[in-house]
Amino acid sequence: MNVLAIGCHPDDIEVGCAGTLAKYAKQGDKVIVCHVANGDLGHAEILPPELRETRLQEAKNAGALAGIEVMTCDIGDLMVYDGDKRQRGAVVEVIRYAKPDVMITHSPTDYMPDHVAVSKLVFDASFAASCPHYGTGEAAGVTPLFYMDTLAGVNFQPSEYVDITDTLALKLEMLECHVSQMKWMRDHDHIDFAEFVRACARFRGLQCGAGYAEAFAQCMAWPKITTKRMLP
Ligand SMILES: [Zn+2]
Repeated sequence: MNVLAIGCHPDDIEVGCAGTLAKYAKQGDKVIVCHVANGDLGHAEILPPELRETRLQEAKNAGALAGIEVMTCDIGDLMVYDGDKRQRGAVVEVIRYAKPDVMITHSPTDYMPDHVAVSKLVFDASFAASCPHYGTGEAAGVTPLFYMDTLAGVNFQPSEYVDITDTLALKLEMLECHVSQMKWMRDHDHIDFAEFVRACARFRGLQCGAGYAEAFAQCMAWPKITTKRMLP
């Protein structure tokens, strides 16, 4: 099975669904991660051109730990707009390249504008990618789409859970690859983001009788719905 997770910033996938992606990879599925924005505004001291390159490398380091291919649409932070035809086209190209059987992206109820824009971009692009005469390249199939948990689980009602007890350590190791973010938050904001992410996974675990879990909500739109369980 081909799995495509499209997040906004280079570390969002680690926060939302890396435990699940690691499970897919362990069972032999091909997993591709794409971040739409390049994360260039994610630091108060490192300037955007340098941070853009640093964060792409951090994302690739994280992906390598789980055997995941990492791509980027390389759009600047706070420049993601779901009404932008060029950006939709870029996401369509990613979908057509990945030929996914299942896709994961942000919830439409997430906490900041780029995340919400990515959610809508992926929803729109997933339809457009299946249309043979849209853009160039071979059309992709219409596939089930899952929204991953919001930051801190706020305003998110899960419909499915994945037990990530056995991949939590790898998820946190992948998260720590994002040194520019983790170190800055620890040194300057006094936030241990690894503890934050672990606590969220434990909370979702309590809801479904697992040690640690990641939560998802299926996008309920025809014809993305199937009778098969698509999450690991
Ligand atoms: Zn983000």
